[in-house]
Amino acid sequence: MSYTFRQILIPSTKYSIKAPYIMFPQFITVHNTANDAPAVNEISYMHNNNNQVSYHVAVDDKEVIQAIPFNRNAWHCGDGGGDKDPNALKKGNRLSIGVEICYSKSGGVRYGVAEENAVQYIAKLLKQFEWGIERVKKHQDWNGKYCPHRILAEDRWNSFLNRIKKAMETNESEHQIVEDEDMMKFTSTTAKAAVRDYIQQAVDKKLIDKSWLQKFDNGTITGGDFEGLKIIIVQRSM
Ligand SMILES: [Zn+2]
Repeated sequence: MSYTFRQILIPSTKYSIKAPYIMFPQFITVHNTANDAPAVNEISYMHNNNNQVSYHVAVDDKEVIQAIPFNRNAWHCGDGGGDKDPNALKKGNRLSIGVEICYSKSGGVRYGVAEENAVQYIAKLLKQFEWGIERVKKHQDWNGKYCPHRILAEDRWNSFLNRIKKAMETNESEHQIVEDEDMMKFTSTTAKAAVRDYIQQAVDKKLIDKSWLQKFDNGTITGGDFEGLKIIIVQRSM
């Protein structure tokens, strides 16, 4: 698995709307975007509107983009925390780094890859801050909102946390898989049959759509597709 990381930080002239307070982060809050836009669109949408809605990071199947420095707050938990809130300093909006996982509306392979990128990125942040898994919250923990909706609907919050724990133990270099947009090629018919068998079994268990088998048989499946498939097969088998 690999993603690229970049910063497209909001201009400081927007701090008063999007990130007015200095923050000493204590938690990471996980969200699903509930739409099908890539991370760069999520970030540019946030840059361009003047709503008090913001988050630090958006993750998709290709990249992790940071928009707000981690020492400033963002408005993503729906639990207040403004000037008039007497408990402001206990609120997710004032304590947590907001991470949005893209493509959650329709799900599928690109969502599966985005979610795995979030797992890897959150594991990296936890290690960086020397935090344990208990620092990872879901949006729902702060104000009851049904978010991250796809992880909750698929009853995978605990497995999501377990994947982060596992990623923290694993050497990062083991996750560097080169994205391969070329069609899959096989060195032998046995190797090809084994991969076909693997896809067939996942289709039989209804973990993936049967169109993937068709794609394999037509020779139109790419290395990148297959990496994504493997990830969602593991996710859905847990
Ligand atoms: Zn949310």
